[in-house]
This record gives sequence, structure tokens and C-alpha cells, in this order.
Amino acid sequence: MSDDPFAAAAAAGIHRLAIPTPFAVGRVNVYLIEDEPLTLVDAGPNSGTSLDELQRGIAGLGHALEDIGLVILTHQHIDHLGLIQLVATRSGADVAAIDVAVPCVQNFGEEAQADDDFARDVMLRHGIPEDVVTALQSVSRAFRAWGARVEVTRPLRDGEALELRERTLHVHHRPGHSPTDTIFHDRERRILIAADHLLKHISSNPLITRPRDDSGERPQALVTYLESLRATREMDAGLVLPGHGEPITDHRALIDERFALHERRAAKILRLIGERPRSAYEIAQALWGNIAVTQAYLTLSEVLGHVDVLLNDGRAREIERDGLSIFEVRGDTADRE
Ligand SMILES: [Zn+2]
Repeated sequence: MSDDPFAAAAAAGIHRLAIPTPFAVGRVNVYLIEDEPLTLVDAGPNSGTSLDELQRGIAGLGHALEDIGLVILTHQHIDHLGLIQLVATRSGADVAAIDVAVPCVQNFGEEAQADDDFARDVMLRHGIPEDVVTALQSVSRAFRAWGARVEVTRPLRDGEALELRERTLHVHHRPGHSPTDTIFHDRERRILIAADHLLKHISSNPLITRPRDDSGERPQALVTYLESLRATREMDAGLVLPGHGEPITDHRALIDERFALHERRAAKILRLIGERPRSAYEIAQALWGNIAVTQAYLTLSEVLGHVDVLLNDGRAREIERDGLSIFEVRGDTADRE
């Protein structure tokens, strides 16, 4: 047995390059697939350091960035997408992405601003203090420089087969962590390129992202994510290649752990709002203390995700008080607690 957890992937011609990012998550996994065309899955954030490491990694495998013929985008987040256009421009590569990602990435600047405006409204509505919201928004604006717009030349449909010379990658849309998460399944080799849809060491945060339908409704990111996980659980895969950290060899056990974790959190939140009605921000503070301030949007997304589950199955209710959303248990549930 080799010590390299990615050895089995490399044997199948899929090479992991861990590219640095300025974000708390650490390095991002980019994959070079030695096939025809030479294919890169994600590219890392838009920075000189990341580009240097990407070029060095590709050169270490005996190729050059200019040889890349296809770049595949797994989802809209900037740690994965930032360098894609630069790679495509230098190499002349096609850029493939799920069709729903096309408007987000082609109008990157305006979309990012609209996302921030939406996030601001959500944070204020759920009780995050205005000064915290303002601080977070300036961080988000600064981080935007690590992204860049992407021109998609090869839009993909959910369920389609992407053919390379030596392999077929089945394309599956698995929204939840972001609305554009896409996974790529090599059925023959039982390899699944899953990006941030499934990570080994951390649970993928289902971030609340601006809906594209103008409904004004808060999208139920966790509910969507759990549905996506159920679909992935049914898939046949011996090796799952994630967007961060090490590969996963038993995705069903990991997905079951995630389901159990989410159930425990939902139960805990139900107990908290059983004590007294609370805003999502108050719930986040009770669960995570100061992290609810420094990582306000992340923790808010997590709380609202669980609250959505409780609202959907009738265990909780959302009421409005002075423009704030407050959550409380439904009477019949409170009696049973
Ligand atoms: Zn992501």
C-alpha cells in the first residue's frame, strides 16, 4: 500500500494538485486528468502564488498549462473558479460548467455584488448587528479579487455524459453547498469527482445563496443539500475525490455520519427555541459563541438550514417581531418536550 491517499486516483490518470488559497479552508484540490483533451478540474483562486503552484504542479507531471484542452468548473465559489479564465485564455481550452452556473460566472462582478446585497438583507433580518454586517461585507468585497469572470464555452446538462478519449464522466447537478455544485462520475472506474459536495474532515456548509427566480423566498440550502446527499449515497463509487482534503473511500458511511450530525443539530436547536423564542443569530451564539460573530454568515446559514428542516416538518414556526424573524416551537411539539 502506498502512503499517498491519492495514489489510486493517480493510477487512473487523475492527479491531485493542492493549490493555496487565502481562505480559512486552506488549500483547494485541483485535478489534472491525463486524457485527451488534457483536462483540469477547477483551477484555484486568482492569485500569483496560486498560479505559480498550479504551473509547477502541472510541469511536475510532465505537461504545461498551455497544453490544457478542457477546464471543468465544479461550482461557483472563488477558491475553485478564480484562475479558470486565465488558464483558458493561455491554453485556448474549452471551459465546461453546468448550465445553471453560466449566468453566475459570466457576470461575476455584478453577481457577486447582488449576492452580497442579498446576504446583507438576510443577516439583518435574522438579528446580526449592523456593524458586524458592515464588517463582513467589506471582507467579502476584498475577497472578490480572488475571483474572476469565466466564459463558459461548453455548458453541461444534468445527466449528460462528458466524453474524453479514455473515459466518460457522467455529469450530475447536486446543489446544496452552492446552487451550482456539480459532480462527475466515472462509472467504469468507480471514481467520483465530488468537489465540495462531500468533504471528509469538515461538513460542507450549505450556504444560503441568492435565489435566481426573484421570488424573494429564502432558499432552503440545507434541505436541498440533504436531498443531493441522498442521491449521491445511491451511487457506486470506490473513490470520491473532494475539493479540499483527502479522498473518501466509503462515501455511504460518511453521508450517514452527516445525516446523524444534522439530526443532532436540529434537535439541539429545537431545545434552544423550546427554552424561549430566539432569532437565528441568538441560536448561533448559543451554539458557537464568538464564532457566530466572526463567521456570522456561515453560522447563520447553518442555523437557518436546520430551522428550515424544523419548519418543514411542523416542529417550529417563524414569527416576525419588529422586522426580525424569530423562531419558536409549535405548541403541540412544546407540550411533548
Ligand atoms: Zn465551495
